[in-house]
Amino acid sequence: MKKKIVILPGDGIGKEVTAEGKRVLQYIADSFGHEFEFEEGLIGHDAIEKTGNALPDETLALLKKSDAILFGAVGHPKYDNDPTLKVRPEQGLLKMRKELGLYANLRPIKLFDELLEASSIKPEILKGSDILFFRELTGDVYFGEKGRKDDGNTAYDLMIYQRYEIERIAHKAFQAARTRKKKITSVDKANVLESSRLWRETVNEVSKQYPDVTLEHQFIDAAAMKLIQNPRSFDVVLTGNLFGDILTDEASQIAGSMGMLASASVGDTVGLYEPIHGSAHDITGKGIANPLASILSAALLLDISFGLKEESETVINAVEATLKNGLRTIDIADAKTSSDKILNTSQMGNQVILEIEKVGNRQVAVGRDL
Ligand code: NAD
Repeated sequence: MKKKIVILPGDGIGKEVTAEGKRVLQYIADSFGHEFEFEEGLIGHDAIEKTGNALPDETLALLKKSDAILFGAVGHPKYDNDPTLKVRPEQGLLKMRKELGLYANLRPIKLFDELLEASSIKPEILKGSDILFFRELTGDVYFGEKGRKDDGNTAYDLMIYQRYEIERIAHKAFQAARTRKKKITSVDKANVLESSRLWRETVNEVSKQYPDVTLEHQFIDAAAMKLIQNPRSFDVVLTGNLFGDILTDEASQIAGSMGMLASASVGDTVGLYEPIHGSAHDITGKGIANPLASILSAALLLDISFGLKEESETVINAVEATLKNGLRTIDIADAKTSSDKILNTSQMGNQVILEIEKVGNRQVAVGRDL
């Protein structure tokens, strides 16, 4: 298979972890006889510094011609500390989602048994958790009218949804539910918000086309509590942009660390794959970032955009085997992890590649870069 993949490292640890995700993709291509052509683009703070624009036109043109995108993260302390700066890294990400019509963000939250002890939640509550989130990406307070009035003393962000935006992601979630436990939890705040009442009404309507899937509704406040109290009670979760943002970060604790969670953003064109974490200024440049979320994002890319199920499973199995061997980056280490089992970012990438070689049982022709 011949495919063009754009790599967008972005800022901070985005650069460090994406290098490992790319290496795994290259290794898979070499092992399974595919040809992946990689091109790199600018986004975020890096792009602002070089071009004055968080998503330069050249990057957008590159993305539109590609078959899939592997993205790192954007962000820089300069903007976090000064909210008045007009040109901001996250504008690049929001523009990219909008321009590429990426309306559905899929976030699988699967706990590897080996990491049961790494979470701050009790193992008996966590064991067996396996949730697939569908977070809507192009509506809500992120894109509604926003501004200030009364000399800057009043601020507003309009929470807005259109019926078609809810319908299209609901269909994706119901279709996925059919391949899993046939159960969906839709999360909203319909007791207070009109946009949530439209959300609930629309999801109920769409559900009529999927009579084999059980639909339940929960309010965001209750869902946030139940996610920690009983994560196994969820299978597919469907929710809006803001609630999804918060719930999926909360759910990262089920998986042990932000550094473990991958996501896919899909719509009707090219798919975007990225870790759920940000640019993590606190650990940037130290070489200790966990690259597994980026590597698992690469696995999602292989599966969803290219339909390469065997290759994707090979990557996931290699991650699992690496963890079974007791190897950890610092964020997922626990009190029992001995210091010789703690790896840095590129060492972790190396181990996954070594396991791919074993799991896939393939001979690698070229491109071995350990
Ligand atoms: P963050 O996700 O960057 O970090 C949160 C915490 O998790 C930090 O302590 C960090 O060290 C840790 N962490 C995250 N990823 C890790 C990894 N791979 N390995 C080990 N530890 C990891 O969130 P934040 O600190 O709130 O934000 C930092 C910057 O990232 C901000 O500028 C923010 O705007 C940006 N951000 C970007 C995105 C994105 O690009 N999609 C998402 C969230 C935050």
